[in-house]
Amino acid sequence: MRFDIMTLFPDVVDTVLSSSIIGRAQDGGLVEVHTHNIRDFSENKHRRVDDTPYGGGMGMLMSAVPIYGCFKSVVEAQRESDEALGRPAKRRVIYMSPRGKVLTQKRAFELTKYDNLIILCGHYEGVDERIIEEIVDEEISIGDYVLTGGELPACVLVDCVSRMLDGVLTNEDCWRGESIASGMLEYPQYTRPYDFRGRLVPDVLLSGHHANIEKWRREAAIKKTMECRPELLQGTEVGIEKTNSDEEELKNGR
Ligand code: SAM
Repeated sequence: MRFDIMTLFPDVVDTVLSSSIIGRAQDGGLVEVHTHNIRDFSENKHRRVDDTPYGGGMGMLMSAVPIYGCFKSVVEAQRESDEALGRPAKRRVIYMSPRGKVLTQKRAFELTKYDNLIILCGHYEGVDERIIEEIVDEEISIGDYVLTGGELPACVLVDCVSRMLDGVLTNEDCWRGESIASGMLEYPQYTRPYDFRGRLVPDVLLSGHHANIEKWRREAAIKKTMECRPELLQGTEVGIEKTNSDEEELKNGR
């Protein structure tokens, strides 16, 4: 899957996404992350990309013109990869924004079905509304709070989507069994030492009795969910069911 991230701060995105699992996924060719500096598309001799808002008000707004130039260059550069695919890539343009729908595991899973996500990161007071109308398919927020820029939200989206792509984690059970995707929170986990400051690992986990371990884990997961996120158990659909079409797509090497 290919991500194109349009930003004023490509270094922030590159630094975050070049390490750990997503870095390895890029090295292994499972994920491609391309950052594009919007400032390179400024038509202003001082390379300015922002201006004061019409009607007055606080702060500066990112202008539509360099963002549009950047977008056109991204789409143009992808003509070749579309030809290699033998069809136009399934593409979606996302603006990271506190006004968007809050990202969920479920939405991130739906986004794994695209070949290419083009992500716009705002900064300052945000972006001229007309660029959203012109190029954006969807606004996504990473939570009900406001950050300085869209770079960290973009990294959150890329990470969350990428780890559900085939081959990025050891197998899909790694993410399907985790908190939220499973429909509840994960059970508590332990590793060596057995005794940590007088806190012992539950005996059942050392018993080697797989059925009892599974039963303990299921009960512990329900207890944890009731303590921390009881609403997940009240019929709110949060989990990701494995469907036949998922199976098919996995078999066909989505
Ligand atoms: N004036 C904007 C508003 O009130 O909606 C907020 C602008 S914010 C300071 C600057 C940029 O950070 C936004 O354009 C967006 O790209 C990003 N951003 C901030 N909070 C975010 C969030 N919760 N989720 C996604 N992106 C966010």
